[in-house]
Amino acid sequence: KVYCDKDFVVIERLGEGAGGSVDKVKEIATGLIWARKTIPAPSAPIQQLRRELNFLANCKHPHIVVFHGTYLSAGDSLINVLMEYCEGGSLEAVRDRMREERAAVSEKVIAKIAEGCLKGLEYLKSKNIIHRDIKPSNILLTAAGIPKLIDFGVSGELVDSYAGTFTGTSYYMAPERIQGAKYSVRSDVWSLGLTLMELARTEPIYPVDLGPIELITYIVGSQPPTLDDAAGDWSDEMKDFFRQCLCLDDSKRPSPTELLQHPWILESQKRKINLARWIQQVWQWDKPSSRPQSALQ
Ligand code: ADP
Ligand code: MG
Repeated sequence: KVYCDKDFVVIERLGEGAGGSVDKVKEIATGLIWARKTIPAPSAPIQQLRRELNFLANCKHPHIVVFHGTYLSAGDSLINVLMEYCEGGSLEAVRDRMREERAAVSEKVIAKIAEGCLKGLEYLKSKNIIHRDIKPSNILLTAAGIPKLIDFGVSGELVDSYAGTFTGTSYYMAPERIQGAKYSVRSDVWSLGLTLMELARTEPIYPVDLGPIELITYIVGSQPPTLDDAAGDWSDEMKDFFRQCLCLDDSKRPSPTELLQHPWILESQKRKINLARWIQQVWQWDKPSSRPQSALQ
């Protein structure tokens, strides 16, 4: 199907990031709800872009956001990417909600989310893709509380276009990246570790108002963050999992496939957790009508 802007009505703005914005939209003809990301079209060959969007269309995995379609607008200067709308919000939104309530997410829920994210990263790796931008706003939750990865870098064409305004150090960046080393899937593991650790803590891991140089000092500092001295009754397996994710030396840091064999994750895999009920409680969707609707439910 060939889309254009007139096929949709915007329901609300979900957010704005480095060079683009995301809206919750309704497809008029079908009534289906999608998330639509709008980013400036790169000046690069459209051929390459097509290959990249084709790849997105062929990504099918329970822990990767479902891609629906794409179209150009504003005289071909904008790319619109339609994807599954995730009602559960991002881990950033969940984290902020928990901070408001001065509470942490439970260990069992964090383990399930970790398991899903690692499977998503393992899948991308099997397709020779490194995510490159794992952070709380790039891990979304469905209405059933299933975690899904979004905004992963494909060939770099799209990444460059919407990360074009991005300079400096991000909070979730692995130490070897700051030092200019080549990106590997192990850098994603660091970012995932930090992202998940935030769910276990009620306060930011690094101070939030650091300048860029101070932030670098924190990230590459001799002691990476641990759960050891954090409030809460976390298991030794969980603490070890985070110690491994946040190993400063990337050559000693495990890959997603290796981490899926970690005792904490193996234990989680045996366990059934009602993530649907958990996310329902987070957002207080007690009445069915208070729950937003996705096209894919
Ligand atoms: P960033 O990830 O840097 O915050 P983005 O432009 O990627 O910026 O995303 C903006 C906001 O939209 C984020 O809060 C993100 O979680 C949200 N968002 C993106 N895609 C979806 C989606 N498919 N469903 C629900 N929310 C989404
Ligand atoms: Mg994003």
